[in-house]
Amino acid sequence: MTSVKCSVPTTAERPETEAVCPVCKGAGWVSIDVSPGDPRFGKLLPCRACGAVARRRVSRFDRYSSRRSRALEQNFASFSTAGHASATRAAFNAAVQFAARPRGWLVIYGPKGNGKSHLAAAIANQLVEKNQVPVLFLTVPDFLESLRQQVRKSRSDGPDEYGALIQAAREVDVLILDDLGAHASTEWAEEVLFLVLDYRYRECAPTVVITNLRPEELPGRLYSRLADRHFSQLVFNPAPDFRIGNGKVTP
Ligand SMILES: [Zn+2]
Repeated sequence: MTSVKCSVPTTAERPETEAVCPVCKGAGWVSIDVSPGDPRFGKLLPCRACGAVARRRVSRFDRYSSRRSRALEQNFASFSTAGHASATRAAFNAAVQFAARPRGWLVIYGPKGNGKSHLAAAIANQLVEKNQVPVLFLTVPDFLESLRQQVRKSRSDGPDEYGALIQAAREVDVLILDDLGAHASTEWAEEVLFLVLDYRYRECAPTVVITNLRPEELPGRLYSRLADRHFSQLVFNPAPDFRIGNGKVTP
């Protein structure tokens, strides 16, 4: 296996697949027609239309996302270690680093209820809101259920949403898979997850995986990719369930 350099292109490096901004023609700056007495006279101002283009690019995966309500409010500042600081510090630090510079895969595993999903949501929120990076946040059981619903629908009813959802998971800039292993293990579910993760593995696409299982408990071909230390960082969060004992709910 060759060692690969994983990275998310910055906005400037990323090939522009959408239409170039019609207002500034891609420059990102505009001059506006004002009289010489106006403080904006002769100055270049950020193009507002570009902001709209960037927002559309970032939000185009929202309709598939499991990042809703509470997850939208979870950030690093609100992360509570609730007396388990040393146990969760490694996971917290790894999540902060990934959000600042998404590279390779980050796999956080450990007992349920100890803040792993909060960290996953915080990564997503920071990348989307602050860095304008397209992110798809999928809770694995919800993702699989959405696909099952598409299978039950007649394919002739409309566009191929089944294929579109899998394609989004494969191709989004940063994929976050929460609760891997919490689904019923079937051959079909394993195949779908393999299709997504193997593609991202081969493309070296930045991915976060959250699981309550030990990685070696996952199906072998998923484990072999998750455990590839060339570009996957495995972080064990051994903290016990925050929800037990202190009355504080930090999923
Ligand atoms: Zn523009």
